[in-house]
Amino acid sequence: MIDIINEDLITTDAIPYLSCNGAQVFVLRLDKIHDTISGNKWYKLKFYIDDARQQGKSIVTFGGAFSNHIAATAAACRIYNIKCTGIIRGERPAQLSHTLQKAVANGMQLIFLSREDYKQKLIPGIISTHENIIIPEGGYGVKGALGAASINYNKNKFDIICCATGTGTMMAGLINGKHATAKVAGISVLKNNYEIENAVQALLINKNDEINIVQGFHFGGYAKYTPQLISFMNELYAESRIPTDFVYTGKLFYAVQFLVKQNKFTDKKVLVIHSGGLQGNQSLRKGTLIF
Ligand SMILES: *Cc1c(COP(=O)(O)O)cnc(C)c1O
Repeated sequence: MIDIINEDLITTDAIPYLSCNGAQVFVLRLDKIHDTISGNKWYKLKFYIDDARQQGKSIVTFGGAFSNHIAATAAACRIYNIKCTGIIRGERPAQLSHTLQKAVANGMQLIFLSREDYKQKLIPGIISTHENIIIPEGGYGVKGALGAASINYNKNKFDIICCATGTGTMMAGLINGKHATAKVAGISVLKNNYEIENAVQALLINKNDEINIVQGFHFGGYAKYTPQLISFMNELYAESRIPTDFVYTGKLFYAVQFLVKQNKFTDKKVLVIHSGGLQGNQSLRKGTLIF
C-alpha cells in the first residue's frame, strides 16, 4: 500500500486569506497524494483494494461520466494490477468525457447503463458477483468510511474539521476518527439534499455523535458553478497557491471563508480537508482558471 504521511501535507502556518476574527485555518493537502487517486478517494478505496488483492478478485464500481471516484478507482487498480469495470450512468456518448478517457487509458472497462437501469444499480449479467468486489457509487459504505477514518492528522491540535460532503462517507469517517471534543462540519455540495444526514448517521460508530451539515453553498447544485465561485477559486490560488476544483473543494473553501467572516470559528483552530478532485477541472473551458 502507498504509505501516506499526512503530517507533511498539513500547511505549517494558518492561511492568511482564510483566517480572520481569531480563527486560524490550516489545510490538509490530500490533493497532493496523487494526481488522479487524489484526496479522499484513495482512503475510501483502500480497504476494497486490499480485499481484491487478498482474494484475487477484480473490482466493479458505479459512477457518472465526470466521477472522481471512477477516475481514482481506475488509477488505483492500474497501480495494483487489478482488473476493473466501471458501470457508467447513461448511454455511451459520441465522445467520452476527459474522466472516462483517462479511466479507459488506465485499463478500466466501461459498461454504459440507461438512467433507469442505473438508478436500480443493476449489475449486468456478464459481471460475476463471485469474481468481483463491488464498490458502491462514490465508495459509499462502511468500508469507505473506515478508510476515511484513517485520514490522519494531529488530532489534539484542531477544534473544527471542515470537509466537502457528497455521499457523506468521508464525513462519517472523519467523525468516527476525530478527537472527542473536536467537531466536524460537512459542507454539502448538493442542493436541498436532506438525506445526507441519514446517510452519514448510518455509517457512524457512535450514533450519538453530532452531524453538522452546512447547506447553502452548492452554487446551484451538484457540479454547477457561478462566476462568483470561479473568481473565488482564482483569488484563493493567487493569494495562497491552493488549487481547488469547482465541484467540491472550491465550494468548501468558499464556505469556510464565509463562516470565518461570520465569526463562526472565533478562537478556533480549523483544519480544512482538501479532498482533491482537481482532475474534474479539465471539463472547464481552457482559461477559466488561472492554475
Ligand atoms: C468524492 C469527493 C468528495 C465527497 O466525498 P463523500 O465521501 O462522497 O462525501 C469530496 N471532495 C472531493 C474532491 C471528491 O472527489
